[in-house]
Amino acid sequence: MTDLIVTINAGSSSIKFSVYRIAQGQLTQLALGQIDGIGGKAHFAVKKTGGEKTGYDFDQSQGAVDHRVALAAVLDWLESEGDGANVVGVGHRVVHGGPIYSEPVRLDDAVLAKLKSFEPLAPLHQPFNLAGVEAARAAFPGAPQVACFDTAFHRRHTFIADTYALPRAYYDEGVRRYGFHGLSYEFIHRILRHEEPVLARGKVIVAHLGNGASLCAINAGKSVGSTMGFTALDGLPMGTRCGQLDPGVVLYLMEEKNMSAAQITDLLYKNSGLKGMSGISNDVRELEASDAPSAREALDYFVSRVRRNIGGLSAELGGLDCLVLTGGIGENAVNVRRKILENMEWFGIQIDFDANARNERIISEKGSPTVVLILKTDEERMIAAHTAELLDLKKPLVPPLE
Ligand code: ADP
Repeated sequence: MTDLIVTINAGSSSIKFSVYRIAQGQLTQLALGQIDGIGGKAHFAVKKTGGEKTGYDFDQSQGAVDHRVALAAVLDWLESEGDGANVVGVGHRVVHGGPIYSEPVRLDDAVLAKLKSFEPLAPLHQPFNLAGVEAARAAFPGAPQVACFDTAFHRRHTFIADTYALPRAYYDEGVRRYGFHGLSYEFIHRILRHEEPVLARGKVIVAHLGNGASLCAINAGKSVGSTMGFTALDGLPMGTRCGQLDPGVVLYLMEEKNMSAAQITDLLYKNSGLKGMSGISNDVRELEASDAPSAREALDYFVSRVRRNIGGLSAELGGLDCLVLTGGIGENAVNVRRKILENMEWFGIQIDFDANARNERIISEKGSPTVVLILKTDEERMIAAHTAELLDLKKPLVPPLE
């Protein structure tokens, strides 16, 4: 029997899953899959490591495909693989651990109830993450379940880093700068600790630049600040989210435009950012390929806000030893990266343009006061590692997270 860890990232209409073998303290990814169209025309797709993508449409005649049916299909697929799959742990991505959880936690009824109480903090994600937990408990009743939070890595912030300038009562009831993308930051920092231990002990900014985007300031391994706040709207502009916005704009939309909370939510989460500014796409590749001035403006705005926030977080850190770029844009978008990093010599970043163009691991010049690295993030592997560690399947499992 192969001991497996399954990771689950459940959203409103899709579930992403990943399967790892755990043997001799090593995590090996066996497969990556996705169920799309939950609640509608659902489709199952899976790709085994090194293999072809396969899939099928769900049979709708048995009723609508919900999270339970979707995860039962994952179990069926695992069993159909033949060699006696033994799921020893299920790790869930849960967006919000509220003010409480600074580490992953094993799920039971009491923890689940606590996590449900955080639904108002992340109404677009938390309820679906938890639906995934309920479904996984039904599909894998023998396997312990672990929640891994996007907020946990930031939970040791000081009061000053976490509060808004509102009366204290709001902070006390949970209106705080939680910060997100924590699993990505943890993963990157673990890799850094393994590969660049001296830099990892210093002042680091990690730029997670994907469809969602944020920066995290890390001092001696601890998150001390993030550009994201109470929700994942704050900070940098993103694929479809606005990033930092004067709250007066929201008041204006309500009072002068008579927009409802639902309409403003839609505008700020789904129709702003690169997509809203360009009117073309949320995808950097499409914007780079376009001649439209609005596409250029959207990219220039993105670059400008990333630079501004690197400056702000560096000032808070009191210097910058290392900048890591990750996420789809950070790992691949050569031109965006160049624009973020050029003319920063005064600041301590001496970029090696050729290394940048070749997507090398280190893209700063030798001797640059700030070392700039490109590292690939892997939130699924972080969840699998947390799950293995929390269940004491193998401690410590990292580095190198394999
Ligand atoms: P998500 O947050 O959904 O996981 P990703 O981390 O995959 O998103 O990042 C998606 C973004 O990365 C998109 O804007 C996409 O255009 C950009 N991207 C991916 N590959 C490239 C590339 N080769 N050049 C420029 N941009 C890229």
